[in-house]
This record gives sequence, C-alpha cells and structure tokens, in this order.
Amino acid sequence: MKQLFVIGVLITCISCFQSENKNNRVVKTILVVLAHPDDETAFGPILSRFANENKEVYLVIATDGRYGVEDHAGISSGDRLAAIRKEETICASEILGINPPIFLEAHDSFGILSGINEYFEQTTQLKNTISRLIEEINPDVIMTFGPDGDTGHLDHKGISDLVTEIIVRNQGWYEKYPLYYLAWPKEKEFWIPQGELTNLNYVDLQYRNVHLKYNQKDQSTFFESLHCYKSQFTSKDIDLWIMAEKKDTTYTMYFREFSINNQVKTTL
Ligand SMILES: [Zn+2]
Repeated sequence: MKQLFVIGVLITCISCFQSENKNNRVVKTILVVLAHPDDETAFGPILSRFANENKEVYLVIATDGRYGVEDHAGISSGDRLAAIRKEETICASEILGINPPIFLEAHDSFGILSGINEYFEQTTQLKNTISRLIEEINPDVIMTFGPDGDTGHLDHKGISDLVTEIIVRNQGWYEKYPLYYLAWPKEKEFWIPQGELTNLNYVDLQYRNVHLKYNQKDQSTFFESLHCYKSQFTSKDIDLWIMAEKKDTTYTMYFREFSINNQVKTTL
C-alpha cells in the first residue's frame, strides 16, 4: 500500500513537472514554419528581436514560390523565379540575424495546380519532412500562421493546418512543442504589391493571448530586410508598407497559443 502511494506521488510529480515545463520553459530555440519565400516578412520584427536576444531561430519555407509572379519584376513563373526567391529569403534571414532558411521546395499550393494526386503527394512529403525537422531541431516553441492565414492565402492556411496536424498526431508533441499562431489585430494594415492598402485577417483581442514587444531597432532591421524582396515588391511598395507599419506605435506582435483541454467529456 505504501509502495503504491509512493508510485502515485511520483507519477503525479512527473506530470506536474511536465506541465510546468510546457508553460515555464526557457525559450532558446524557435522554429518558424511558413509557406512562401517572403512569408517571414509577417514575423520580421519579432524574428529580429529573437536574433538580438541570441536565440536560435530556424525558418522553414514549404514552397519555392515559383508562381509568385509580379509584373514589375518581369520574371516568369518557374525555376528561375524559385531560385531568385530563395536568394531573397537568404538575404532577409542574414539581415534579420536568424539561421539560413530551410527550403522544402514544394510547389505553390502544394502541387494542387498539377492535380489532386500531386497535392496528396506533396503534402505527405511535407508532413514527413517537417516532422523530421521538428525532431532534429527540437525547438522550445513552434510558430506558424493561424487558421485565418494572415492575408487569407490558401497556402498560409494550408501550412497552419499541416503543422497543427503534425503536433496532434504525435503523442506528447503538444506538451513538448508549444505551438503559436500569428494573430493580427483588426486594425492592422499592409500594402499589397497590386497597389492597395488593405487589412489583414484578424483575431479578437480576447483570444490574442501572447503579446510580444519589439523595439525600434528590431523594426528598423525588419524594414531593411524588406529591400531583399526585389521580385515581389517595388521600392514604392516597400515605402508604403513601412509607412503603414509606422502607424502602429504599439511595437507589439500578437500570437495565439494553440491550446487543448485534454479532459475527456462524455457530453457536449
Ligand atoms: Zn505567402
């Protein structure tokens, strides 16, 4: 009986320690998983802050952006555009001070443009590779887009889905790898290359449960990194984007922690 009591206490303590670990872990290694080579612009100021704090930031880009044609650049879709966009993200990562990006080189929209079979093949491959990278990098936290998809782009929603699926299909990964979704406030504006100022998709303040501050230096580094993306933005686009960013004087980025109540219920 006494032995059973001791084992019971031990089991309770182990689970206490694990849950404390999830909430109080020291965050040194951050894995950011995104869809396109330039999606890191959405996380720019906070990536710069993490780098300034000497955290290890790993950026994974799922697709090669081969269909991201912009008229001003005069580059047609395909291998050449994919290669240029890769260099642009390497350039931005260097400026932000994070590790060189890891490119998974799926096609835009995960191959759906070549048919549903190609989509299944590419998403399966992506899930396997991202799972392996998570185990290898062993991050303290993972970040990606939320179900709103930032701009609402299907690929942003797709990568959010894939990462979430990976976390919930592996026992213990939810506790081991806390997942954070980017969550914009309703009033956040951004400039799109097609020439208009628009609002991003958003999450209510009540559910933006992580508020991360950055400083002016982080913001300036982010602004500098924008000039790497010459295939995507004109100088005017970048100027207008910076102007929109400067309207936000809160110096805060918001996230939503992916959260599961594991308590089993037998009623709804
Ligand atoms: Zn994108």
